[in-house]
Amino acid sequence: MPESLADAVARRRTFAIISHPDAGKTTLTEKLLLFGGAIQLAGEVKAKKNRIQTRSDWMKIERERGISVVTSVMTFEYGGHVFNLLDTPGHEDFADDTYRTLTAVDSAVMVIDAAKGIEPRTLKLFEVCRLRDIPIITFVNKLDRESRDPFEILDEIEEKLALDTAPVTWPIGRGKSFAGTYHLADNTFRHSDEDVKPIPVNGPEADAISGLLPEHERDALVEEMLLAKEACKPFDLQAFREGHLTPVYFGSALRNYGVRDLIEALGKYGPAPRAQEADTRKVEATEEKMTSFVFKIQANMDPNHRDRIAFVRVCSGKLERGMKAKLVRTGKSISLTAPQFFFAKNRITADEAFAGDVVGIPNHGTLRIGDTLTEGEDILFRGVPNFAPEILRRVRLTDAMKAKKLKEALQQMAEEGVVQLFSPEDGSPAIVGVVGALQLDVLKERLKSEYALPVDFEASRFSVCRWISAEDRAELERFIAAHRGDIARDLDDDPVFLAPHEFGLNYEAERWKAITFTAVKDYQ
Ligand code: GDP
Repeated sequence: MPESLADAVARRRTFAIISHPDAGKTTLTEKLLLFGGAIQLAGEVKAKKNRIQTRSDWMKIERERGISVVTSVMTFEYGGHVFNLLDTPGHEDFADDTYRTLTAVDSAVMVIDAAKGIEPRTLKLFEVCRLRDIPIITFVNKLDRESRDPFEILDEIEEKLALDTAPVTWPIGRGKSFAGTYHLADNTFRHSDEDVKPIPVNGPEADAISGLLPEHERDALVEEMLLAKEACKPFDLQAFREGHLTPVYFGSALRNYGVRDLIEALGKYGPAPRAQEADTRKVEATEEKMTSFVFKIQANMDPNHRDRIAFVRVCSGKLERGMKAKLVRTGKSISLTAPQFFFAKNRITADEAFAGDVVGIPNHGTLRIGDTLTEGEDILFRGVPNFAPEILRRVRLTDAMKAKKLKEALQQMAEEGVVQLFSPEDGSPAIVGVVGALQLDVLKERLKSEYALPVDFEASRFSVCRWISAEDRAELERFIAAHRGDIARDLDDDPVFLAPHEFGLNYEAERWKAITFTAVKDYQ
C-alpha cells in the first residue's frame, strides 16, 4: 500500500550540523552516512549508476584550501526515518551560505570538542539557530582524548548559550579509559556503535559497566554516573522543541562511540518538517499541494556538464518527477524533469520527494536563490537572507573585449549567491560585494576556469552597503536623486546606498530620517 502523505512527512528529519572548525563535523557526517547506509530509499528512487561523482571533485579550490566551501545535502535512512543532512561550509567567510542553509532545516546538531567546549563559531551559529527557533541536539565529541569534566561542559553550555541541558547519555570513562556510553534514563549502554541495540543493565554499578573501567578510576567514574542520574535535568521534549533545552550526547565520531545514540535521538526527538511562513499564510507540511523554495544554487557538480543545481526544500505535499511547477517570481511554469537526491558520493533521480526533503533541480539559470515553486498558488516563502557585503570591489578585466561576457558571468555568479552584484546608477562599472574575502578567491577561480576570464579586483571607494527603502516613495526618489553617485541596484533592481565608511552612512541616516537603511534583505 502506498504510504500516506502524513506518514511520509512524519518520518522526515531535516537537519544541519553546526560546529567550530575541527570539532569533528566532517567525521561525524561520514559516520552518520555510514550507519545510515546512505542508501537509496526503497521504492522511491532509481539509481543512476553512470553518474557517480565524488564530492571532492566539486570544486578545485575546496581541495586546494582544504576547506569545505560548498553546501551540499545528503539523504539517508535509518530506523525507519528519512534524514536530510544539510552540510554547511565551516569557514566563516562563507557564513552567508551557512545562514541560508539554516533556513531549510528543522533541527541542528551542535558538535562540541570535549577538550575545548563552546568555541566562537559554535556560539555564532547557535545564535542563528536560536533566532529561528531551531531545536538543538548536542554531541560532545572526542571523549577518547583528554577532555574536560562532563559536568563542566554542561555548565559551560548553560552559561554561554543560556540553554538548559539534559544529558541523555553519559560517557563511561574518558580519554584512554573511554569505554562506551550509558543511557541515564533507560539504564542501557553501548560498548561502541557496533552494538546496534543498547544493552540493558541495573545501573552504573552493574558489573557489565564498572568492569569496563580501570580499577583505580572505577569508583569515581561510577559515582559520577550515579550523580549525573540523580542531579541532572531530565530530558523534556517540549522544552527541547521550543529551543529552551538541549539533550546532550557524548561520544567519539572517530572511534565510533555515541553516533548511534545520536542518530536515534534525531529520529525519536527531532521534529518532523515544520510549517513554513510564506508572505500571505503559513504552509503546513502535510498540505496536499507541493510548495518549495530554493535556498542554495550550486554549479559545477559535474565538470562534464555546465549544469547548475538549485537545492529546494520541499515545504508541503509531494514533489514528483515530471510535474509542472509555477515559479512564482516570474509566473512561468517549469517542468521538474529530473529532480535528484544526493547521497554520500552519488546522486540519483528522485521519483518523488516529500515535505522536508531537499532535492536538487538541474537548470540552466532559471532558478535563483529565494525562489518559490508551487503547484499554482501565488505565495512567496520569506526569510532566505541576503547580507550586506562587507567587502566591495570592482572587477578589472585584462581583456576589455570580454566586457559583455564578464557581465553575464557576474550575473550568473550573483544568482548563485557566490557574490552580490551592484550596478551603479551613474553607469560606472559593476561592483561586487562579498561577506568574506575567500569568496573573492572563489569568484576569481571560477571566472578563470569556467569562463576563461582572468580578472583582478580593484578597491572601490565604498566599503559600506545598505538597502534603502521608505514608506513614502517620493522621499526615496528624492534621496536617490540627491545621491546619484552613491546609489546602485542589486540583482532584483532594489536600490542600495554605498558609503565610504560607517561614519558616512550614519551621517546620511541622521539627515534622512524617513529612509530605512537595512543590512539584511530577504531574497525576493
Ligand atoms: P571539522 O573541521 O569539524 O569537519 O572536523 P573534522 O571531522 O575534519 O575533524 C578534525 C580533526 O579531529 C581530524 O583530524 C579528525 O580525525 C579529528 N577527530 C574528529 N573526531 C574525533 C574524535 O572523536 N576523536 C579524536 N581523537 N579525533 C577526532
